[in-house]
Amino acid sequence: MKLIIASNNKGKIREYKQLLEPFGYDVVSQREAGIDIEVEETGTTFAENSALKARAIYEITKCAVLADDSGLVVDALGGEPGVYSARYGGCDNDADRVALILSKMKDVKQEDRSAHFVCTIHFIKQSGEEIAVEGRVYGKIGYEPLGDNGFGYDPIFMYEGKSFAQVSTDTKNSVSHRANALKALIEKLSQENSGGNK
Ligand code: IMP
Repeated sequence: MKLIIASNNKGKIREYKQLLEPFGYDVVSQREAGIDIEVEETGTTFAENSALKARAIYEITKCAVLADDSGLVVDALGGEPGVYSARYGGCDNDADRVALILSKMKDVKQEDRSAHFVCTIHFIKQSGEEIAVEGRVYGKIGYEPLGDNGFGYDPIFMYEGKSFAQVSTDTKNSVSHRANALKALIEKLSQENSGGNK
């Protein structure tokens, strides 16, 4: 059965393909499905935004759809950048967004630098049944960008002594917010399958 991922990001599509094909889904990107819409992320929560994207594509296609939304939540900044992670401070690149967080945090003590990444996944089956899950990973904001791997806020997100940009993609993918959200989704799908409610 076809499953459309509401994204054209190659890394994301590859990861979702690997994990969801065993459930009998033929995973395709939004572009491969011929859908040329950009859904505005007008929600105030990650869950609202992923639901908005999934529902917009389901309305058009009536195919199974998966949409996600993710971002960084910094406690000392009252939860910023949160749902505005991709456009924080009006900056148009990752380096400027990272620099903005570091400058806002320059006087924040180590013990108050806690942060987490969040990923919500909204999955709509072909039948219209909806499943919403969330995954998180907890860490701290560092004092300078470290490492060359990854993207976004990875260079300042410290997890077990290293930044997410200093560890391999495999290591990050085994503990990340996205991995945890996918695990939660797969658990739900497995429970339904074993209950004969596919
Ligand atoms: P989206 O869910 O792809 O729209 O991601 C929103 C924004 O959150 C990205 O542009 C990044 O700035 C940030 N973000 C989400 N996940 C990660 C991650 O795993 N590492 C670093 N930044 C991330």
